[in-house]
Amino acid sequence: MLAEIQYYSRLALGIRQVTRTPLPPDPESFIRRQFVERERRFLEVAERVVFANPAHPSHVMFRIAGCALGDLARHVEQDGLVTTLTTLRGEGVYLSHDEWRGTTPIVRAGREISFGANGFRNPFVKGWSESQSSGSTGRPMTTAHSTEARVHTNAHQFLRFREFGLSDRAWITLRPILPATTGLNSALRGRVVGTPVDRWFSVGSTLADYGHYRAATWAMVTLGNLAGARAPYPTFLPPDDFGPVAAHIARRRREGRASVVQGILSPLVRVAAAAIEQGHDITGTVFLCGGEALTPGKREVFERAGCLASPSYALSEVGHVGLGCPEMTGNCVHLLEDAVAAITHRRRAPYADEVEVDSLHFTSLLPYAANFFINVEMDDEGTIEPVTCNCVFSRIGFTRRIRHIAAFGKLTPQGMNFHGTELVPVLEEVLPARFGGRPGDYQLVECEAPNKQTELRLHISPRVGLTDPERVRDAFVEHMRPRRGGALATRLWLHSNGVRAVISEPHATPTGKVHAVRLLRASSSPGRTRVGHEA
Ligand SMILES: [Zn+2]
Repeated sequence: MLAEIQYYSRLALGIRQVTRTPLPPDPESFIRRQFVERERRFLEVAERVVFANPAHPSHVMFRIAGCALGDLARHVEQDGLVTTLTTLRGEGVYLSHDEWRGTTPIVRAGREISFGANGFRNPFVKGWSESQSSGSTGRPMTTAHSTEARVHTNAHQFLRFREFGLSDRAWITLRPILPATTGLNSALRGRVVGTPVDRWFSVGSTLADYGHYRAATWAMVTLGNLAGARAPYPTFLPPDDFGPVAAHIARRRREGRASVVQGILSPLVRVAAAAIEQGHDITGTVFLCGGEALTPGKREVFERAGCLASPSYALSEVGHVGLGCPEMTGNCVHLLEDAVAAITHRRRAPYADEVEVDSLHFTSLLPYAANFFINVEMDDEGTIEPVTCNCVFSRIGFTRRIRHIAAFGKLTPQGMNFHGTELVPVLEEVLPARFGGRPGDYQLVECEAPNKQTELRLHISPRVGLTDPERVRDAFVEHMRPRRGGALATRLWLHSNGVRAVISEPHATPTGKVHAVRLLRASSSPGRTRVGHEA
């Protein structure tokens, strides 16, 4: 409780600070300068955070690789940052997602490298706005973002709005209230970037223990408004009904004002579908979507409603990685190379016997990024390739894009992450112990439902002999009960519409073996499967 009070006090001070910090006078020049200076800044942060600290896990990796700071600087100058990072990956300077989460030890050249809970946090950054990965086991992953990082994101956001011609639109945000901070940040950001937020819609009003988070959200919006934010208070949606958002967009449209709607992709699809079903005219609305891959099926729903959808790609631990532009279609974004460097490395996917993926590796470039990573994997794959378009991001120099972004080794329904390392013990041990059966009798599939929602389907083998699959679903949800920071919303969402439980024969793999986790990718290549530990 005391920790929570301290956290909200910090959050209140941070909100005041970020609300009163204007954008840089020329955001485009500001971002371009960051981009031009990125190699120098990367070396400066590496020197301060890694090379000045012999115990830093990346420092140990550099020592094992025989690379001193001078070697690194020379390499970057001669070959550029991307080539250097690719070479370093080959020399063992990288971090797999499970290593960073602490579920697998870091071993390089036969030597185990230990690190503490905050081993990759930048000690020179004072953050206040926390985001936390959901999950029930492993190390809690808290990232605290600073005011400088928020201002940087606001500058990206400003350029995105200007490029799409959205600055005069009614800005609607569809995001959860506290303890997740994304909704609050979004609502408070409007006036700073020059487009005040018109309405903030939120799901998550039915859970009994949401009461004090409602009060905390109300208090934080009030504090922001006292500092000049002019942010709206959240409007709660009825359970399982996104019609009120569509009705609001149609009303604004009749008043002569088009809208831009921002949030997690699956709920935004529900808004477009509600407009079609209930006859609300939302033609011309732009949906800025995050958290999930923009699949052809989901895009088609937006198009049927006469709307445009554009994706973004962000990772709470790394920051904003990519943004779509008006010339891009599909599951594809400009890589924001002022803030993050990215390479791919081909490797075998976890929980899969035969599948290889181009795993994305990220490196932090901003001195005020919460974590300082060199080649960290987030269990996402994608294709990095050159792009030529005539948008502000290309003009700045962001001439590489990431295409076909998809998760492997984790499920990402509705913008939430469930990692294989957390799921496997629940499916292989917890559920069989409680309901009978054995490993392989419980399988989890991520799929796109007929209404284009991304959902998890829990398959239970008939040989378990259950008649009420919903009991297993409730036990699964209870076991994945997450912690603070987006976590309560996760539990609510899982309860309301997230997991469908069905009795079905176990899926066998191509080798004929039964696996406990079957991760079906809903995004770029329908039909490709990710399979789990062998029974
Ligand atoms: Zn572009």
